Amino acid sequence: MEYISLEEELKEVKKQLKKAEREIRRLENENTLLINMNKKATSMRDFSERELVLAKNQAEKADQAKSDFLASMSHEIRTPINAILGMNELIIRESSEQNVRDYAKDIESSGRMLLSIINDILDFSKVESGKMEIIAVEYDLASVINDIINMLSTKAKDKGLTFLVEVDRTIPSILYGDEIKIRQIIMNLMTNAIKYTEKGSVKLSLKGAKDEIGYKLYLIVSDTGKGIKEEDQKRLFESFTRVDEVENRAIEGTGLGLTLTKCFVEMMGGELSVESVYGEGSTFTAYIRQEIVKDDPIGDFEERIARKREQRENNSQRLHAPGCKVLVVDDVQMNCKVFCGLLKETGLEIDTAFSGREALNRCQNKKYNIIYMDHRMPNMDGIECLHELRSMDTPNNDTPVIILTANAISGMREMYMEEGFDDYLSKPIEVKYLENSIRKYASDWLVETVKDNKTESVIKENKAESPQISFQEKYPELNVNLGLMYCMNDEDFYQEMLKEYAGGDKSNVLKECLASGNYSDFGTFVHAVKSTSLNIGAEHLSEKAKRLENAAKELDIQYIHSNFDEFLLEYESLIKKINSTE
Ligand code: ADP
Repeated sequence: MEYISLEEELKEVKKQLKKAEREIRRLENENTLLINMNKKATSMRDFSERELVLAKNQAEKADQAKSDFLASMSHEIRTPINAILGMNELIIRESSEQNVRDYAKDIESSGRMLLSIINDILDFSKVESGKMEIIAVEYDLASVINDIINMLSTKAKDKGLTFLVEVDRTIPSILYGDEIKIRQIIMNLMTNAIKYTEKGSVKLSLKGAKDEIGYKLYLIVSDTGKGIKEEDQKRLFESFTRVDEVENRAIEGTGLGLTLTKCFVEMMGGELSVESVYGEGSTFTAYIRQEIVKDDPIGDFEERIARKREQRENNSQRLHAPGCKVLVVDDVQMNCKVFCGLLKETGLEIDTAFSGREALNRCQNKKYNIIYMDHRMPNMDGIECLHELRSMDTPNNDTPVIILTANAISGMREMYMEEGFDDYLSKPIEVKYLENSIRKYASDWLVETVKDNKTESVIKENKAESPQISFQEKYPELNVNLGLMYCMNDEDFYQEMLKEYAGGDKSNVLKECLASGNYSDFGTFVHAVKSTSLNIGAEHLSEKAKRLENAAKELDIQYIHSNFDEFLLEYESLIKKINSTE
């Protein structure tokens, strides 16, 4: 009995075993099925990911093509417009017929409008393609405000508007940030305020506050104009949007100004907001983040401007040293011309040498009172040249040698003094420092100080006609005030330096260096572009050249190749423009 039940149990176990085996097989099949399905799913996912990447690349390419097209088209259009405006200016100046001058003035105002639209489109395409960047420099806020007052106060007065400026006297005098974009922000807001106001006033207020991460600068523009309806205020910052179109149909505009302004403000870590009452007026408030360079308060703004004017007038105390012999050594012809130009009224006897070798030859035959020497020169640099000069026996064994360099970073002065230089002057050269160094290193009996009438008359002319403004309109990409400052505010000298700059075009030699992989010479030439660009006030270009120079120093080939084209486009278009402008 027991035997039977054991057999039965065995049978049952076997049956269960078979069932389990069947179950295992079924599970195995299911597993294989799952694995296959999984594989299929993975390959489908890979496929759709590839498709997605492909589609994204195509979309990006199309977007890039659009931005490139906009950018190059705007560049191309800018050049002929500038030529048209240049020729038109000659008509305004030279025509004796009033009605011809009136037509030409209409051409000018439409041309300027077209130029500002093109500039906006160019900026917009840069923003869209992510190429817009902040280029920070040290800047003097007072001179920014001063330029804006110069450019806009007549426009406001012509419309019968009161132009008010209120500047908080505690704002630090020298800040660090993108000066050109700050100018654009204020100009856009102020131009709108004037455009959309028929009576009353427009006002620019600046204030600020220090905080733990730097300085928060507020730019506030208010007007007593048309105002903006509440429902329109939300749409204001959308690109190509103009509001209240029926009311504003006679006022020219593209609807890009506020979009760009908002974008610049946000790139500077800030915000732009608007408060407005329809029919009563508007207030646009932007705050941006800046760094403080010099914490001296800007002080009483009016008084500061008056003081600057006075300082300029005092600069008319010029050096006179006809017996003093100076040698200037620089491989860049424009730098030598700047040097000679700055001293042309002083009677100094100036020789130039375009290489270290030429300088040594000159030193063997003539005794100089001072030698000014560039640092970066091909073949023999300034330091090597000084060492060789000191090891030779020439009439200049104890002539002071002063290094002229665009390497104005801290610690450089000490380095040059250790190499044996007597002093250091940074480029671009400012005439007052140059003259002071001549006073310091030339014997007393050679140097006298005289009152300079020419500078005075230049200052007077500047006041009467404000040539900076017309230069600035011709070259919005330049900081004309800076360029003029390096040219002693002499308009003709500045024009000459612009031509010299264009004549010293380094684009071909830079391209050749890149094609042959000669990064060392590339560094030397782009260094020259850095310093000459700053000399004419092309700050942004100079900054770009500086970055390329640093990349060449560090052999960051990738940086050079991905940024050179953009730099070249800007460089060549500036040169083209200078060549096409009289
Ligand atoms: P636009 O080139 O048309 O002036 P903006 O982007 O600068 O373009 O301004 C967009 C719109 O905002 C303008 O068309 C105008 O309707 C309105 N707007 C801007 N500023 C003012 C202002 N100060 N007062 C009234 N309306 C303004």
